[in-house]
Amino acid sequence: MKKTPTQLADGRELIYYDLRDSAVRDAVDRRPLEPTVTRSEIRRDPLLGDSVAIASHRQGRTYHPPADECPLCPSRGERLSEIPDSSYDVVVFENRFPSLAGDSGRCEVVCFTSDHDASFADLTEEQARLVLDAWTDRTAELSQLPAVKQVFCFENRGAEIGVTLGHPHGQIYAYPFTTPRTALMLRSVAAHKEQSGGENLFDAVLARELAGERVVLESEHWAAFVPYAAHWPYEVHLYPKRRVPDLLALDEDARTEFPQVYLELLRRFDRIFEREGEGSAVGGTPSESPTPYIAAWHQAPFGDTGVPGAQREDFALHLELFTIRRTSGKLKFLAGSESGMNVFINDVPPERAAERLREVASS
Ligand SMILES: [Zn+2]
Repeated sequence: MKKTPTQLADGRELIYYDLRDSAVRDAVDRRPLEPTVTRSEIRRDPLLGDSVAIASHRQGRTYHPPADECPLCPSRGERLSEIPDSSYDVVVFENRFPSLAGDSGRCEVVCFTSDHDASFADLTEEQARLVLDAWTDRTAELSQLPAVKQVFCFENRGAEIGVTLGHPHGQIYAYPFTTPRTALMLRSVAAHKEQSGGENLFDAVLARELAGERVVLESEHWAAFVPYAAHWPYEVHLYPKRRVPDLLALDEDARTEFPQVYLELLRRFDRIFEREGEGSAVGGTPSESPTPYIAAWHQAPFGDTGVPGAQREDFALHLELFTIRRTSGKLKFLAGSESGMNVFINDVPPERAAERLREVASS
């Protein structure tokens, strides 16, 4: 992997990650951008104890590309995008309209490929490995910023999830605190350690799931299952079998095997809602859009976790992949019970979801 950092016209950082060491990335951003002024403030809810990022941004003269020009495609001729070069493998840059900035963290955009019409599932194993290496490098770099406590790499895919740019991309949020979900997990881990005389809860959950009926996919170094109490209609948790707190600690064997495992999971997700015998191999174009999904990397916070009795080494790096689609044409909305009370109602039994995700395995 070759890494080339540069700056955009408004001072934001952009980094090229290339497969070939011979890649030269010296194109200059020629857009008339003025420096961004970002304001983001973290407010803590006194009753719930969680935090809300209030982002209000004041812009100078903003460069508006025509709506039909994708800002994540490479720049070509006079068609200038966020990426100055005329090609790229993987590129990461600071979000122009970040939810977190300055003292309250940082937001970045990760472009997985320069191919506008591809999706992550279309990447080659070599390309997927490059994305993994970019996520890992960003986690290392962002953890060095004084304001950053936890790094979250994720992908939202599909218009149903509110994605407005079709170009395959993900985001990275670097938070100035341990996020509520991570803190909840760490509290459970600390309590279990205490009660069990030292057992790690993540290890116990993984062992139990691997012995059960909700396994979706298992390889030498990775395991994927639908959790016992899945919140979403189709939800898969992917763990490296050797527990590590974050991407930085993932060993070479697991890194090498990751692309084939993850690409297979994403391809199965795309087939969940295909009707029996109506696979893409038959030649018919599915009338429905590809499965919308959220893919979320859970990593340990850096330094002190902020949760008594839980060290960062107790945490288990894993990826949670889920869709909000329940069945063809129907979405799971976060309605009264979920939004009002944090109580999820899931209409798809986790055992049935796991069965379906095994049925649609690549042959
Ligand atoms: Zn594009």
